[in-house]
Amino acid sequence: MSITRALPVVVLACAATLAGARDPDVKLPDIGSSAAALATSQELRDYGAAMLHQLRAHELVLDDPLLDDYIKALGYRLVAASDRPDLGYTFFIMRSEDINAFAAPGGYVAVNAGLITAMQSEDELAGVMAHEISHVQQQHILRGFEDQQKMSIPIMLGMLGVMIASAGRGDDAAPAALVAGTSLMQQRQINFTRGEEAEADRVGIQILARAGFDPNAMAGAFQALQRVMRVNGVDVPEFLLTHPLDTRRIAESRARAAQLGCPGTPQLATRSAAPMASRGGTLDLSLPEQDSAAANSIRPPGSARADACAPRRDDKGYFDLMRERVRVLSAGSAPAIRGYYADNLRNDPSFDTPANRYGYALALLRTHQPQTAVEQLEPLATTRPDSVALRLALARARDRAGERKAALAAYEQLNLDFPGNRAVILDYAEVLLTQGNEADARRALDLLRPQLDRHADDPDLQASFGRASQLAGDSVRAAEAYAEAAWLNGHAEDALSQLKALSRREDLSYYQRSRIDARITLLTATVLEQRKRGEQVERRDWQ
Ligand SMILES: [Zn+2]
Repeated sequence: MSITRALPVVVLACAATLAGARDPDVKLPDIGSSAAALATSQELRDYGAAMLHQLRAHELVLDDPLLDDYIKALGYRLVAASDRPDLGYTFFIMRSEDINAFAAPGGYVAVNAGLITAMQSEDELAGVMAHEISHVQQQHILRGFEDQQKMSIPIMLGMLGVMIASAGRGDDAAPAALVAGTSLMQQRQINFTRGEEAEADRVGIQILARAGFDPNAMAGAFQALQRVMRVNGVDVPEFLLTHPLDTRRIAESRARAAQLGCPGTPQLATRSAAPMASRGGTLDLSLPEQDSAAANSIRPPGSARADACAPRRDDKGYFDLMRERVRVLSAGSAPAIRGYYADNLRNDPSFDTPANRYGYALALLRTHQPQTAVEQLEPLATTRPDSVALRLALARARDRAGERKAALAAYEQLNLDFPGNRAVILDYAEVLLTQGNEADARRALDLLRPQLDRHADDPDLQASFGRASQLAGDSVRAAEAYAEAAWLNGHAEDALSQLKALSRREDLSYYQRSRIDARITLLTATVLEQRKRGEQVERRDWQ
């Protein structure tokens, strides 16, 4: 967990352990002796959700269904092996090059794109995530408030309210309170105690081992970060600012890992208690494109070593693909990232791997060269028909290259081979909806509708469902879905005004009207609460 300097909103996300303003003027809710009394778990989840929506409004979230499914599957696999699989978690990827990850209130765990591309294996990425999950599980965030920082949660919620209120005013300037609060937090870079960091390492390593990952990967991740630090010279990865590394910490991680040995069968003692997502839906705990890899890597007795375990069989391939996907989708400049792949492929034979070819093809799609992307992807997808990522990229490239018929056939086959896959369905629906005819829109609706139950909090899914509804002639359902997308994208006031306009229509059925009114009531309450807190914070004297 750490501070990110550039953007106030990111600091807010980390504020749980940072904010410590003392001001007797702020009226706090009845405070019990325990930090938990400062905010209910529902309030914390609301905070986490509002934070995620605000991050989206600032285009800081990397929303991509393949990556989202990947990071969630990885996260939930670790959560299932934790001592508290019942805690609600939400994992997401930040569109940031800073090498960082953090846990925020309400079980929201963010992993930066820069961290993912710095990792050499899925086990290392899992190591960092297990560390953050441990901060949540061990209640370090709440414990921080129990110290001298009882103001933290109300202030944090209040500052979020300031942002939401200012977003509603269309006021771009960062409110004074926010600026003041940000510098205040930066002065108080206390974060977790060293003891808590050590505990998160220890608990995290246990989670790693139980989930069937290499327990050495925690130390491996630390060393990967050190390598990046050396390559970049003075640029200390953000994560290390708050997770100072010394040889002792790495040695301790190694020693602990040695006691646990190499991964055998995952010890998911608590697997029956399925972890919950913060919002609805059943979760598939298996990683995409991964068989029981851990079970396949049981080593003969005596072969476990302290410093390394054999790489787990084929999940490495999928991590490598997803890492390149993150690299391309989070890159600021499309031509620059295409140049990165083109140059390396030309000059370095060892760079020519399927994952890097995949990255190159995705970069070509970003620079509008779909035909070249097809040429790159065809041989890859032919050798890996089991890879949804490769085949999906090829289908998209064909569509962009004007081969609509071939693309539609490819999506139809993908939908048969990977039923219910959100990434397949969203791409397929997008192609169906481009021509704007009603029959295709109805087909898209049939595909999208079951996804709404599982992924109601996906703004792209809501927007796509809205467009399909519109083309299919259901303008009410379309408006509802568009409002939902606005809400999830951090435009709360827009969402409300859209819903209110909708409720004024006279042709609504009784059922439609009650559904819309109920949603208005719920969102209004949330927005008012956030505004009220924002006003409290804005009135404060920040000197
Ligand atoms: Zn930590």
